[in-house]
Amino acid sequence: MNRRFDAVVIGAGQAGPPMAGRLAASGKKVALIERNLIGGTCVNTGCTPTKTLVASAYAAHLARRAADFGVKAGPVGVDFAAVMARMNTVVGNSRSHLTAWLQGMENCALLQGHARFLSPSTIKAGDDVLEAERFFINVGGRAVIPGFPGIDRVRTLTNTTLLKLDALPRRLVVLGGSYVGLEFAQVFRRLGASVTVVEKAPRLVSREDEEVSDAIRETLEAEGVEIRLQSECIRFEPRGAEIAVGVHCTAGEPEVLGSHVLLAVGRRPNTDDLGLEAAGVEVDAHGYIVVDESLKTSVPHIWALGDCNGRGAFTHTSYNDFEIAAANLIDGSQRKVSDRTSAYALYIDPPLGRVGLTETEARAKGHAVRIGRRPMTRVSRAVEKGETKGFMKVVVDRDSDAILGAAILGVGGDEAIHGVIEAMGAGVTASAYTRVMAIHPTVSELVPTIFGELSP
Ligand SMILES: Cc1cc2nc3c(=O)[nH]c(=O)nc-3n(C[C@H](O)[C@H](O)[C@H](O)COP(=O)(O)OP(=O)(O)OC[C@H]3O[C@@H](n4cnc5c(N)ncnc54)[C@H](O)[C@@H]3O)c2cc1C
Repeated sequence: MNRRFDAVVIGAGQAGPPMAGRLAASGKKVALIERNLIGGTCVNTGCTPTKTLVASAYAAHLARRAADFGVKAGPVGVDFAAVMARMNTVVGNSRSHLTAWLQGMENCALLQGHARFLSPSTIKAGDDVLEAERFFINVGGRAVIPGFPGIDRVRTLTNTTLLKLDALPRRLVVLGGSYVGLEFAQVFRRLGASVTVVEKAPRLVSREDEEVSDAIRETLEAEGVEIRLQSECIRFEPRGAEIAVGVHCTAGEPEVLGSHVLLAVGRRPNTDDLGLEAAGVEVDAHGYIVVDESLKTSVPHIWALGDCNGRGAFTHTSYNDFEIAAANLIDGSQRKVSDRTSAYALYIDPPLGRVGLTETEARAKGHAVRIGRRPMTRVSRAVEKGETKGFMKVVVDRDSDAILGAAILGVGGDEAIHGVIEAMGAGVTASAYTRVMAIHPTVSELVPTIFGELSP
């Protein structure tokens, strides 16, 4: 017999649980279906474990630099098992708090199983068939397994399997020089592995301005991470206990050897096994669910939230999707996904905080721009902390004085960028920003100064 609900939420990632919570609190009868771990990618195999590892790696790095601060730390060793145990504790606590909240939620049935649509108004989850008036799809994504020659002949890792290792890789080859790959590369280097990053493009994180890519490369190379750019000939071959990764065909060392290979070349949405055809929900050429400005799919009573709609690839974009859908549906608001400004961070050390357009993007869109820049060597707080790598940069529209974007690559950059995020959200102009009184000594205090020193 079919079970009837007001709403079914598919996936307990970053948007599903709060959506279930808001609906249940408004008196609706809700089912939340999860096929794997509560908390999805961010909690289990994404943000939380990686940022916990970043913290361990930073501790090892700082301990090695202890003498710079007049501190005697002795020889520094890394206990990999303890590092992973700490990570598992943090992840486990986060998952169990979320699980307990969902299990105790009135009006909400938490179901374990793979969900698949049977029709626009019915869905199968394990042995249950559920009927509902509304559906919220929050199925997230997974690592792309690229079709490079020889990939089926060697053992490779993804972000999920790498986090299950019980011994430090001797030599890690990271395929992909973007956000996920670079965080792991620096972490494992600092924990004691040899690391090579293999990237097809001519530079790392190629959606950033070139000076950002170059500075990141310098930082990683200074720590001993080998970077192989323009790798046009990627292929794999077993070589004894090692894996040979083909890099270049024409110039330079043609291959690198690794004890382990991490695939970090992108993500794909979990929409291929959801029965979307039976529901009549449209997807694009890459499998992302097509949504309108209010995150409704091609079927008006079905919404798609988070990574699976292709409108963002972060925890905060997924959560913001929930906020938009809930505000429109429950509070009668008229919020749109295009109202938000793009913002994210790359958690290498020093971190990169980013908001809005890069200089290259702004110019490509036809803006006449003014640029503000300051190296972290001229930020007192960075000097006092002994962490002066990187720089800050702001991009302003010359005609309107509107802030178009900013990058803070430096100590505290992931936090300091929030001043600019909030200013852009509130429509504060560059000139108005210069009048802000900031706290000394902070990294943030120099942001108003930079807005006051723009190029003509
Ligand atoms: C290594 C790594 C590090 C990251 N670090 C950060 C970071 O620092 N900051 C940040 O903002 N973002 C980060 N991200 C991205 C972030 O994790 C994702 O953007 C975020 O988790 C997306 O959330 P979501 O709600 O869309 O989906 P997910 O969190 O992926 O959740 C989807 C859920 O749906 C379930 N599901 C899928 N299909 C079905 C089905 N058919 N039936 C039932 N359940 C199903 C899945 O099991 C999963 O639990 C990182 C990602 C990775 C891989």
